[in-house]
Amino acid sequence: MSFTVAIDGPAASGKGTIGRAVAERFGFAHLDTGLLYRAVGKRVIEGADPVGAARSLGAEDLEAGGLRTAEVAQAASKVAAIPEVRAALLDFQRAFARRAGGAVLDGRDIGTVICPDADVKLYVIASDEVRARRRLKERLARGEDVGLEEVLADLRARDQRDSARATAPLKPAEDAVLLDTTHLGIDEAVARAIGVIEAALGERGGRTVRE
Ligand code: C5P
Repeated sequence: MSFTVAIDGPAASGKGTIGRAVAERFGFAHLDTGLLYRAVGKRVIEGADPVGAARSLGAEDLEAGGLRTAEVAQAASKVAAIPEVRAALLDFQRAFARRAGGAVLDGRDIGTVICPDADVKLYVIASDEVRARRRLKERLARGEDVGLEEVLADLRARDQRDSARATAPLKPAEDAVLLDTTHLGIDEAVARAIGVIEAALGERGGRTVRE
């Protein structure tokens, strides 16, 4: 049986961390859909055509190093505004969402476009300042020479592009549960997400996803 958890939200809101943790907790497969757009963005930086790159994306592109840089993130959000790029990545994401045993997908349009019928939809937010501080910590840990203002400007530029695009813009699905992690530690945020998922599983009358 399939069971789909859709987690959306702006950059560095905590959705990736929550997605990984709940997938582990329930034994679901996890897909960080941002990686697909980052992989396309990286190929474009290297000179490829965006639509061609999206149509020929393979596992080796997702496993390539260097997908987490700020340069690749900006390129990802530019290619993500191209409808043909999004269309090329749709079937893979939908097939992943339907896999037996349960799936968690995190991104920007999972609850609105990729899986409008998801069993659970979470929309994770946090204040700009908190998100920038989290991302700054990650980038400093990678040895980058960067400051809070630059990280904040990067995030805002990306959020603005992701929210303003015509196709599959960043926005909560009408039936999404809002999870504001501004004042929550990781454990508390994950515990709340687990609570929402357990309630949805309970509505299935106690049947397990593996049945
Ligand atoms: O989540 P992450 O920051 O890795 O995503 C990189 C970029 O990929 C986002 O800024 C967004 O433009 C794009 N994206 C998207 N739809 C998704 C996931 C990511 O447009 N489902």
